[in-house]
Amino acid sequence: MSTACFVQVALPVPLPQLFDYLPPREGPPPRAGTRVLVPFGRRQLVGVVTGLSVHSDVPADKLLPVDEVLDSTGPILDERFLRLLRWCWQYYKHAPGEVVIGALPPALRKAVGTLPPAPRQYALTEAGQERLREPVGRAPVQYEMLAALAAGPVGEQRLVTIGCQWRKTLASLVDKGWAASEPAAPDQPRPASGPTLTADQRAAVAAIEADFGRFRCHLLDGVTGSGKTEVYLCLLEAVLEAGGQALVLVPEIGLTPQLLRRFRKRLGLEPAVIHSGLSAGARLEAWGAAQAGRAPLVVGTRSALFTPMPRIGLMILDEEHDASFKQQDGFRYSARDVAVKRAAELEIPIVLGSATPSLESLHNAVEKRYSWHRLRERATQAALPSWRVLDIRHQEMVGGLATAAVDAIAETLARGEQAMVFLNRRGYAPVLMCQSCGWHGSCERCDANLTWHRAAGRLVCHHCGSQRRAPALCPECRADALVGAGEGTQQLEELLEKRFPNVPILRFDRDATARKGVLDQLIEEVRSGAPCLLVGTQMLAKGHHFPGMTLVVIVNIDQALYSVDYRALERMGQMIEQVAGRAGRSDRPGTVILQTLHPEHAALELLLGKGYGAYARWLLEERRQAGLPPAGYQALLRAEAHDRVVVEQFLRDAAAVFPAGDTRLSGPMPALMERLGGRSRMYLVLQAARRADLHRQVDAWLPRVRELRAGRKVRWAIDVDPQEL
Ligand code: ADP
Ligand code: ZN
Ligand code: ZN
Repeated sequence: MSTACFVQVALPVPLPQLFDYLPPREGPPPRAGTRVLVPFGRRQLVGVVTGLSVHSDVPADKLLPVDEVLDSTGPILDERFLRLLRWCWQYYKHAPGEVVIGALPPALRKAVGTLPPAPRQYALTEAGQERLREPVGRAPVQYEMLAALAAGPVGEQRLVTIGCQWRKTLASLVDKGWAASEPAAPDQPRPASGPTLTADQRAAVAAIEADFGRFRCHLLDGVTGSGKTEVYLCLLEAVLEAGGQALVLVPEIGLTPQLLRRFRKRLGLEPAVIHSGLSAGARLEAWGAAQAGRAPLVVGTRSALFTPMPRIGLMILDEEHDASFKQQDGFRYSARDVAVKRAAELEIPIVLGSATPSLESLHNAVEKRYSWHRLRERATQAALPSWRVLDIRHQEMVGGLATAAVDAIAETLARGEQAMVFLNRRGYAPVLMCQSCGWHGSCERCDANLTWHRAAGRLVCHHCGSQRRAPALCPECRADALVGAGEGTQQLEELLEKRFPNVPILRFDRDATARKGVLDQLIEEVRSGAPCLLVGTQMLAKGHHFPGMTLVVIVNIDQALYSVDYRALERMGQMIEQVAGRAGRSDRPGTVILQTLHPEHAALELLLGKGYGAYARWLLEERRQAGLPPAGYQALLRAEAHDRVVVEQFLRDAAAVFPAGDTRLSGPMPALMERLGGRSRMYLVLQAARRADLHRQVDAWLPRVRELRAGRKVRWAIDVDPQEL
């Protein structure tokens, strides 16, 4: 070869490198961002070219040529997008190929996958118009289609009802020169007008619009119901009208038809939706439309972050505090942090919205790295709910509810309003136990009790998913003395059905809403406003707008008050505030009752007395004093195996080769739930005051860790900016 040229390819293998190939035997070398088919061992793999170089560490006679260039029309990922992916694999220290291939929709990870063709529209030619003026003749279906085309260019969706073989009919019209096709015009937004913005909303919109065309991160910190979504809509309208694209990320559960309907109605266009529940075909269609610039608006969950959009002008992350933005296995990235990075690369503004911002984002706002916009009042003039702490140490309890709470529910329903009971435990009872010998059902594979699902007659582990039939007699002593201990949503539902026989009881949890469409039906029923009583888990906490809801009862959050996880109080505060935010969203005032055994706990007093903002500042100060994130930086080396001894040995060996520097290493220590799915899980914690120190040392360390013999017997991974212990 005259000019030495090597093709660097990212391949879907769990190895920390890219792979060099020679260019294909024929044709020019593929450009960065193009998919290729390459030989790998005895297999062929689909990879993505990340770059070309004049140098390779591998001797040229050991290298093989690319078998085939799959994207014949050019790269499907552009340079900036590849730069973002490179940053991801370097920052999160994950296998480059898994990061890059994971960014493609599943259909494009196969050699046969191709980008979907751009939709086309059809119009009559002059010859076609002439034909239409003649009598119908012997091909009435063709004539019918000609007539349908007469009104102007028409998309395929308007033709599918004509005859029973519309494609064939259309093809023969084109063949005869009566119709011609052209690329369909892109979807144009036709925005409808929204409400007049409040002063706070207006200020936020103006400030963010002033940053269009440059990078800036905006924290939109607005109480529940303050009109954050309305702010997003105004910004989206501006970006889309100017011909730009926009990306909106929402938590897993937030992607309800409700929100999409609101986008559709206000913006007058169909959002392209991307989430992991889609079929491969639908996902490819949406991804392809975004990548080609056809889809103006993409709305999706975490993974939609990796959607290339050539004209993107704005990113929005709603409920930015939500834990589902962090991927907890494989490529463990924070969609929030990568989104901010992407906005910086693209030089566009990004909006992080929440009623309960994460301490990370608050920290950045306090330090003035982010612009901070506060919406302090509800947009509809509804007052924020009032609190009532119910000390359950001196209360008579029935199935987990204090009598006073049941009375409050009864009064609410009697007024024709709605109430909800929040309990973060699904199932009937958290444990099935024997009153005779004390046996209780626990998972053999996890450090956890099995939850009794009475209706299904099963004991289920909510951590590893294993389940078995619930025994009728005690397996230990054969006594007929098994009872459920503690409360779950199913039991609460049963109890409330007995107490309130004339009111619909709606259960919101993962079991009740497993079937597709059930959740939306439930939501619609609640939104209709008729009296009803909701029982549910944190699924209730997220974003729903229920105008008739005036009472929220929070059954029990006490575990969080004494948890060893330093994030437990942050999550508890967010959850309480979010659940409470469902109450009193329209004209009637809302009340929140919090049942607790610890009414005098300082955290609760602060949260309920001064609100989430003051509470979060206090937590932030505590983190600062302890050097914990976001005041410090962490990474975990996680390891797991069946045998605890092996895990511990590996982590000790890894600790022994950690390079010297300012990063503190501690552990090995067991994960909060050490045994999960039959495996023992432990970790090392690496903590530093400066991010750069942490990354420099970990980067120097990882090659040594990969060499460790003990590493062959465990599964291990690095978790940068971990969210779970
Ligand atoms: P958030 O996203 O902060 O929870 P929403 O944008 O959903 O708040 O607004 C809550 C309710 O208030 C919605 O019914 C919305 O239509 C209404 N709303 C929002 N902004 C205004 C406004 N400026 N004037 C009147 N109603 C508004
Ligand atoms: Zn027993
Ligand atoms: Zn289990």
